[in-house]
Amino acid sequence: MPWVKSPPRHPSLNPIANDCATTLMAAVSVPLTLTTDTRSPLVAARQNLLDLDLQGCEALVTELGHKPFHGRNLFKWIHKHGVTDFGAMTDLSLKLRSQLQEVAEIRTPHLVEDWPSADGTRKWVLELADGQRVESVYIPVLIPQERRHTLCVSSQVGCALDCAFCATARQGFNRNLTSGEIIGQIWHATRWLGESPSNIVMMGMGEPLANFDNLVKALAIMQDDLAYMVAKQRLTVSTSGIVPNIHRLAEVSAVSLAVSLHAPNDALRDELVPINRKYPLETLIPACRAYIGDNPRRRVTWEYVMLDGINDSLTHARQLIRLLEGTRSKVNLIPFNPFPGSDFRTSSPERIEAFRDRLIRSGLFTTTRKTRGDEIAAACGQLVGRVRDRAGRAPVRAGWPQPVVAA
Ligand code: SF4
Repeated sequence: MPWVKSPPRHPSLNPIANDCATTLMAAVSVPLTLTTDTRSPLVAARQNLLDLDLQGCEALVTELGHKPFHGRNLFKWIHKHGVTDFGAMTDLSLKLRSQLQEVAEIRTPHLVEDWPSADGTRKWVLELADGQRVESVYIPVLIPQERRHTLCVSSQVGCALDCAFCATARQGFNRNLTSGEIIGQIWHATRWLGESPSNIVMMGMGEPLANFDNLVKALAIMQDDLAYMVAKQRLTVSTSGIVPNIHRLAEVSAVSLAVSLHAPNDALRDELVPINRKYPLETLIPACRAYIGDNPRRRVTWEYVMLDGINDSLTHARQLIRLLEGTRSKVNLIPFNPFPGSDFRTSSPERIEAFRDRLIRSGLFTTTRKTRGDEIAAACGQLVGRVRDRAGRAPVRAGWPQPVVAA
């Protein structure tokens, strides 16, 4: 079956587990009813074709005794046309379709919760084959006459990096997503949108560079002309600073780089982003400079969550200016999105403005993120979801918005 649009659609959309979503006016979530997954465990044991890139599909059909170009067609059916039924892949021979039926499946994530927000932002809770759940966030770009949308994608179930201000960190770490599970989020969004997302940010749950191989494979599928055709400049990988893998990424990809910085000195960053103890600023900054290289059109986006009384003084602003001197940069100030149990408060608008003005006066390109999707907890650091723990229990969090729909 080709892509099916799900009406009604919010025409109108932001990014992170350190960065996804914003401010709403009338916050009304509309319950949506979703079906439960009834697949057989046997089916789940087949090769999931979402895990295969173009070369993988070609290799599979070759192994089954067919010409490699059938692999191209298969790849296109899956990603371009959103077809999961081999029987509907009419330009594949009946024999190949029947063989595929035996050995493979297209195992897409199962949508269990759909959280529409009044501003068009939408959070999806997706269940994976083993019952784990991840979240992705769709954010329409609010530009008249221009149809753009950003998809914030998760790379892990939970996260091990324990950033102090992040709700996902409270979840702990369960496991890496496979490349097919990363792509599955884009497959689902594309099906819902009727077209590929124009921008993809790897800023959902988890640290993408801690799941390096699967990330790189998924990035290639996102960019493939026979799949989602997302330009590399429109693909952003956000990292808290796993320095060796920033270098590795530079060798295999030229996607945009965002760094969850959040502090202008090691002492503070050690507390807020503990991975800094392993990879301090004196290693992180040069790695980021090397990543963008000499290309004047490339720059690093620095994410900086504004925490009242913690990292938001003019002294911090001056330290940040010194730190980023000589690096082509964009600084993105993010008002902190409080969550139940968090010890932090967001900085006042006046403090954020003074901080931003100081950076701008120094010549740093600086924006303040408008948070969106507040009432559905789709905002920065709030992607935690009702992700199940290792025992399969969905955690209850007093004070969180309640699921619109539970599977
Ligand atoms: S703990 Fe840190 S690295 Fe992990 S999701 Fe949260 S902000 Fe990102």
